[in-house]
Amino acid sequence: MSRDYYGTLGVDRGASESEIKRAYRKLARELHPDVNPSDEARERFTEITAMYEVLTDPEKRRIVDMGGDPLDSSPGGGYGGGFGGGGFGGGGLGDVFEAFFGGGGGGGGRGPRSRVQPGSDALIRVNLTLDECATGVTKEIQVDTAVLCESCHGKGSAGDAPPAKCGMCQGQGEIQSVQRSLLGNIMTSRPCPTCSGTGEVITDPCGSCTGQGRVRKRRTVSAKIPAGVGGGMRIRLAGQGEVGPGGGPAGDLYIEVNERTHPVFVRDGEDLHCTVRVPVVDAILGGSVELETVVGENLEIEIPAGTQPGHTVTLTGRGMPRVRGGGAGDLTVHMEVVVPEKLDRKRRDLVEQLRTLGGASTEVVNEDTARRGGLFSRLRDAVAGH
Ligand SMILES: [Zn+2]
Ligand SMILES: [Zn+2]
Repeated sequence: MSRDYYGTLGVDRGASESEIKRAYRKLARELHPDVNPSDEARERFTEITAMYEVLTDPEKRRIVDMGGDPLDSSPGGGYGGGFGGGGFGGGGLGDVFEAFFGGGGGGGGRGPRSRVQPGSDALIRVNLTLDECATGVTKEIQVDTAVLCESCHGKGSAGDAPPAKCGMCQGQGEIQSVQRSLLGNIMTSRPCPTCSGTGEVITDPCGSCTGQGRVRKRRTVSAKIPAGVGGGMRIRLAGQGEVGPGGGPAGDLYIEVNERTHPVFVRDGEDLHCTVRVPVVDAILGGSVELETVVGENLEIEIPAGTQPGHTVTLTGRGMPRVRGGGAGDLTVHMEVVVPEKLDRKRRDLVEQLRTLGGASTEVVNEDTARRGGLFSRLRDAVAGH
């Protein structure tokens, strides 16, 4: 059986390459699997694609014109083996689709990409103190991104000349090549190196941006950082990222918070912890300590008489503000009772007198007794997170 190449594609025997291409594209728009999912359409699309590739290869077209059938003699066992099987369903299909739908702006095609592309997002880290995280702060931040070229306003041309069609790829944005393989001929395409796949070249490039439409620039961005942020959180500044190729719309700028260690407070999410070192005398007799919170409030923390090591006081709502509003976390003050390592003579005498009065003696106890106070209560509190 001899295939009717020209008849199937609907062109005359003397058709030019561009006429063949046009006819193929017209058929492909109806039959491409993305458009028409039926098996029949897929089979026909496979057939016309194979025929199209034959007729656009001068050597193979000559064989057809001489009455032969190049698809029957291809190394992979011909047309059926070459294109009907898995070899066609993958990348090959996409390449063909891309190659023919791109240039004409047919719906859904990929083709030459626009010279103007959206810009990418940028990320910058900013160091904040815990106090700044707690109150919120407006920071002036130096950023280094691509910005719109002021000389050409993103056009890329020095003058008013519009971009010209790329001669290398004829405006297709891609260079196609046909490779022989065991599965038949495979058409591959790659972005045109001359125009970077855009199909256009700028004939009089702007001197400031060499036709890119954008330049790198260091600038200062004012970032309003809300109260309650923490390490690793990102604040998005819409449209402050990189300007795209060809002066395309800028991406977003993300400010990532790096929280500095605080001399007093340790943060656990929205809660804060600090430790108060209580001299043993104050632990016995009671007392108080002043504490400045992260938002600058002065608090007086009571140390009750008889404070045990590991005692904690939790102040509700004195922790970090919640970043999405709605109050604040808690502040937990951990009491550490400090026993003096050395005493002067006078103090030592007083403590000796205290001992002669009696009342407490050193004893060995089991775990349950110990758990009611001292070390184990501290551990228990630690496990409970307070
Ligand atoms: Zn420019
Ligand atoms: Zn090109």
